[in-house]
Amino acid sequence: MSKIEDWGIHKVTLPLPFELDHINCYALKGNAGWSIVDCGVNIVASKNHWLDFMRTNNIRPEDIKAIYVTHYHPDHYGAAGWLQKISGAPIYMSSPEARAVEIFQKEKSRFIEALNILYQTNGMPTILLDTFCKSLNEMGSLVEPVAKISIINSNEKVKIGNLYFQIINTPGHADGHLCFYNEQFGILISGDQLLPEISPNISLWPGRDPNPLGSFLQSLQQLRQLPIKLVLPAHGQPFRDPVKRIDQIEGHHRERLKQMRQIAAQGATAYEIVRETFNTDLSPLEMRLAMGEVLAHLAYLVHKGELKVKNEKGVNVYHAVD
Ligand SMILES: [Zn+2]
Repeated sequence: MSKIEDWGIHKVTLPLPFELDHINCYALKGNAGWSIVDCGVNIVASKNHWLDFMRTNNIRPEDIKAIYVTHYHPDHYGAAGWLQKISGAPIYMSSPEARAVEIFQKEKSRFIEALNILYQTNGMPTILLDTFCKSLNEMGSLVEPVAKISIINSNEKVKIGNLYFQIINTPGHADGHLCFYNEQFGILISGDQLLPEISPNISLWPGRDPNPLGSFLQSLQQLRQLPIKLVLPAHGQPFRDPVKRIDQIEGHHRERLKQMRQIAAQGATAYEIVRETFNTDLSPLEMRLAMGEVLAHLAYLVHKGELKVKNEKGVNVYHAVD
């Protein structure tokens, strides 16, 4: 029996239909029933995996008493509605993430239009914009059925399984991303905020956080202060020594910022920087992640006063500050 199971924590790894092919959800056993953190996407293979896990551990659907979702991205939130439907359990999320769910459910076409304008203004050719909308629309079925969401706030303490966790607001990767920290054993359920091998995508979205990279780096600083002994991430294996990983992730962004500052010094659009930084053939999803990431880095540099942006004939061109 591994250590986390001694605490009643089970890592449930589910398949994903993306290049990133798995997500770790966590199921915590408590005297009053089970709690789940993150859900996987709404696909048959993933739901069967949950049902197998429940069968193996003698869990009836109604034994699931609470579902926590770190953020609204399909791999975390996708099957929440289905889990709620079979269990009747409440789904807890932060209010910015509940708002994101609402945007994707009720205002999707308006949101995609705003995204199109953002990308067009930042130099993306029209032909690419169409493939894009299609790829965003295809995400829809991964997050059905519609769930009823209850709001939780950062700094509240919640009992997940038999352990108490502090809710920690860690915006950046998503505006209302949450981590869950158990002080007694130094356990952090980190969602996508702190991952052992990959650096989470930080994207600028229309109408959302205007400086997501600034928020993300600040969230990392906040985690740096905590005496965390074990990180339970949403992707990859649990790991110790979060400070070492925080150093690496910060280093990665510093490097990227340097690169973008150099390219933008000559005057460049975000799209041109994408082409120069990620010079391979990108799928629509990869292109969206790359464009969002470059825009987030440029926004950070503009916020810091290290770059300026000028609208030239309807297109945003970034320049060095002279
Ligand atoms: Zn995510």
